[in-house]
Amino acid sequence: MTIQQQTKTLSHFINGNKTKGTSGSYADVYNPSTGEVIAQVPLASREEVKQAIQFAKTAFPAWKKTSIGKRVEVLHRFRQLLVERQDELIQVICEESGKTKEDAKGEIIRGIESVDMAISAPQLLKGEYSVNVGGDINAFSAKAPLGVVATIAPFNFPVMVPLAITSMAVAVGNAVILKPSERVPHSALLLSELWQEAGLPDGIWTVINGDKEAVNELLANKDIQAISFVGSTPVAEYIYHTGTKHNKRVAAFGGGKNFMIVMPDANLEQTANAFLGAAYGAASQRCMAISGAIVVGEDTEKRFTEIVKEKVLNLKIGSFQEANIDFGPVITQQAKDTIIQYIDGAVAEGANLVTDGRNPSICETSKGFYLGPTLLNQVTPDMKIFKEEVFGPARIIVGVETLQEAIDLINDHELGNGVTMFTSSGRAARQFQEEIEVGMVGINVPIPIPVGYHNFGGWKRSKFGEGHMFGPDQARFFTKAKTISERWPDEEEDTTSSFAFPSNSDTNIQ
Ligand code: NAD
Repeated sequence: MTIQQQTKTLSHFINGNKTKGTSGSYADVYNPSTGEVIAQVPLASREEVKQAIQFAKTAFPAWKKTSIGKRVEVLHRFRQLLVERQDELIQVICEESGKTKEDAKGEIIRGIESVDMAISAPQLLKGEYSVNVGGDINAFSAKAPLGVVATIAPFNFPVMVPLAITSMAVAVGNAVILKPSERVPHSALLLSELWQEAGLPDGIWTVINGDKEAVNELLANKDIQAISFVGSTPVAEYIYHTGTKHNKRVAAFGGGKNFMIVMPDANLEQTANAFLGAAYGAASQRCMAISGAIVVGEDTEKRFTEIVKEKVLNLKIGSFQEANIDFGPVITQQAKDTIIQYIDGAVAEGANLVTDGRNPSICETSKGFYLGPTLLNQVTPDMKIFKEEVFGPARIIVGVETLQEAIDLINDHELGNGVTMFTSSGRAARQFQEEIEVGMVGINVPIPIPVGYHNFGGWKRSKFGEGHMFGPDQARFFTKAKTISERWPDEEEDTTSSFAFPSNSDTNIQ
C-alpha cells in the first residue's frame, strides 16, 4: 500500500491498536519529491504519552518473564517480514523522506543487520558464574531488562534507526516507546504492523507521534528507565541533560562533521569516486555523510578539486520514481532554505563556489525540495560552513600543507562522529588512526559506519552519554546487572553471628 492510499490523518500505535490522536494538534507530512502534503500526523499531548507509558508498563512484566528463546522467535519472524515486505517499506521510506529506492534498500539491509544482532541476545545475556567463592557460596551475575525505555528518532533513517535501537531493547526484555520524527511517521507505523504480525505482545512496541511536548513527557516520566536519542547535536545535548536530571540512563547521538583526509599519495580517481557517493548520497542527509575533504598539498588539492568538479557536474538529482537518480530532495523547504543560507554565508566569508546547486533546473518543473550538489573550496576553519553540520548537499574542500595539520583541524572540531582518510601509505594511516579524536574511523573506506555487531557512536559533541548503538554495548545499555551470592547450608549446620565485614580469608593482611 502506498502512502497516498492511506487515510490522510495518521494515528499512534498504543497497546496493539492504531489510536487516534486526541490533542487536536497535528503536523503536515510532506512528500519531499513533489512538495505535496501527504498526511497529517497527530502530535501527542503529555496526557496521551502518559497513557501509552502505562500500557507499556503493564505489558512489561510478562515480556520480561517470557523465555529468551521465545522472545527471539518473535524477532526471527519480524526479520522474515522485513524481508518479505521490503518493497512496501522502500516505497514508504522514499515517499516520506525523498531517498532513492537503492538508498532506501540499503537502509533496510542495515536495519536487518541490527535485528540479526538482537537475535544473538541469548549469547549476550549470558551472565558470569563463580563456584565456591568462599564458604560454599556461589556467585553469579545476571542481566535484567530495565522496564519501559524510550527511543526518539530523526527523520533521515525512518526504518534503520528505529530498528537499530529498538530491536535489541525488545530482545533483552524491555517494553519500547518509539517517538519517530514527525516528518516520517509512516515508516514507524508500518514497522508496528510487522511487529504485531510477528507476534510481539501488545504494549511492548508503542509508537507515539509528537514533537517537543511528547519528548518532554518521556524525559520526565518516572516510568521511563532509559532514553536512546538520535538527532541533531543541540537537541541531543538537551535530551542528555534533561533525561539524566530525571535519573534516566541516556545515550544521545548527535550530528557530525565528517572529514575525508586526502593524501598526495592517494589514487585521486578512486578517492574522488568515494568522496562523491559519501558526500552527496541521500542529499548529504546522513550523520556519517562526508562533509568535506581536507586535502594535503597544494597540487593535490588543485587536481582533486578538478576531478571532483567534473564528476559533481554529472550528478543527476530527481524523484525516487525516476531511473538512475544519484540523490533526491532534502526533507523540507525549511531545510532547503537553511542550506542555501550556509552557502550564501560561505561565499560572503570568502569561499569559492566550484559548483552551485542553489537553483537546480528540476525546480522549474517540480515543487519538490531539490538542491543540486554544491562544492566550495578555499574554505577556512573560521568559516561557519566549516564549523557547523550542514545537513544537505553543500560540501567543502579545505587545503592544508601536512597530515599533522589535517589531524589537528579535525581534532579541534567540536564534532567527532566519523572521519576517513585516503592514502597508499600504511605509516600515514597508522599515525592518523592513532592520533585522530573521532569515534568512527575509516582508512580508504568512504563511510566508516560500523557493521551491526560493532559499536556505533561518535566522540565529543557527536554523542552524549556512554551507550553505543549497534554492537554488544547496546545489550549492556538496555539491561542492568544483578549479582547474586547464594549458599544452601545443611539443616544441621552450626552457625554463629559474625560482626566482621564478610571476607574470604582469615590470614593477616600482608
Ligand atoms: P532533530 O534533532 O531535529 O530531531 C530528532 C528528534 O528529536 C525528532 O524525533 C524530533 O521530533 C525531536 N525533537 C526536535 N526538536 C526537539 C526539541 N527541541 N526538544 C525535544 N525533541 C525534539 O534531528 P533531525 O533533523 O530529525 O535529524 C537530523 C539530525 O540527526 C542531524 O543532525 C544528523 O546528523 C543527526 N543524526 C545523527 C545520527 C547519529 O547516529 N549520530 C544518526 C542519524 C541522524
